[in-house]
Amino acid sequence: MRSLNPWLVRGLMFLLMLASLAMAYVPEPNGAGVRPGVLPDAWITGGPKCMESTEFQIHEYNPDFYILRQSGCSHYEKPFLYLLFGAEEALLIDTGAGKPDVARVVLDVVAKWSERNGRESIPLTVAHSHNHSDHVAGDGQFQGVENVTFVPPQIDAVIEHWGFTNWPDEVVEVDLGDRVLDVFGIPGHQQASIAIYDRQTGVFLSGDTVYPGRLYINDPEAFTASVDRMINFTEDKVVAHILGCHIEQTNTPYLEFPIGSIFQPAEHRLELTRGHLYELKDAIESMDGEFKRVALRDLTIYPVGPEIWSQLRTRRAEVESSQRETQWNQMEAQQ
Ligand SMILES: [Zn+2]
Ligand SMILES: [Zn+2]
Repeated sequence: MRSLNPWLVRGLMFLLMLASLAMAYVPEPNGAGVRPGVLPDAWITGGPKCMESTEFQIHEYNPDFYILRQSGCSHYEKPFLYLLFGAEEALLIDTGAGKPDVARVVLDVVAKWSERNGRESIPLTVAHSHNHSDHVAGDGQFQGVENVTFVPPQIDAVIEHWGFTNWPDEVVEVDLGDRVLDVFGIPGHQQASIAIYDRQTGVFLSGDTVYPGRLYINDPEAFTASVDRMINFTEDKVVAHILGCHIEQTNTPYLEFPIGSIFQPAEHRLELTRGHLYELKDAIESMDGEFKRVALRDLTIYPVGPEIWSQLRTRRAEVESSQRETQWNQMEAQQ
């Protein structure tokens, strides 16, 4: 057999290399092969008239993916909760802040989903993006409930439930039934923080680690490693949206709402992109190990220690109580 012209071989290899690069950057078919969904142009933040708002806004991203947003009238943190349905199982991430009436709302969506899909029920697992009080407040309401598996938010329970043998680096595959999620650890904001990637929609749930607002960093070293881990993981993935658990940014670049705000007119959008991870990495690298507060266009790096936490709590309480005093006529107060 005649040997191939070495230049031809090199040329072919070069073309193959180009093709593999193109695969990473130009996913086909059109639509990137992920199931689409719709995000609202603006979320209900709560207020200015608190008597008018329900405690949770329920948004249907698509028929098997729901986003719940707690009203600022109920708690100033206004967290986002995520409810995903697979063929075998549903998964709720987080249970709200303050004293939320959350189980009733979630179980109602689960019942309606079941009805819509012609089934009697579906088992629900309740887990958390991380273990902070504004994400676990409704936990008690899901414990001991029939057909509900409750995962405690503490790090040991998180590692055990998801089946990590190498936390936080390992990527654990979780199948909800025709819906595979990739889960890995992203400590730094809080030690039990996890990221969840939904292969079906290409949505990446980033918890309190990345969102349009103040990224409170408790452990800079772990946080830096987690940003790298998120960048590496998403390198060959389609990322439709990066969705975190709060919005604290206004839609004016670099401008945040005051800590403790109840009503947030003209909020930033919830969704971020993979580009924000790079912007974050870039900003962290430029700090050269000296973490400091830095405002980026859509989010703020906000290192905290015990002292700053207590200052923040005081400041937050002042803003929140002054807004509560005027919550019945905030429209006037805002003008
Ligand atoms: Zn948090
Ligand atoms: Zn939070």
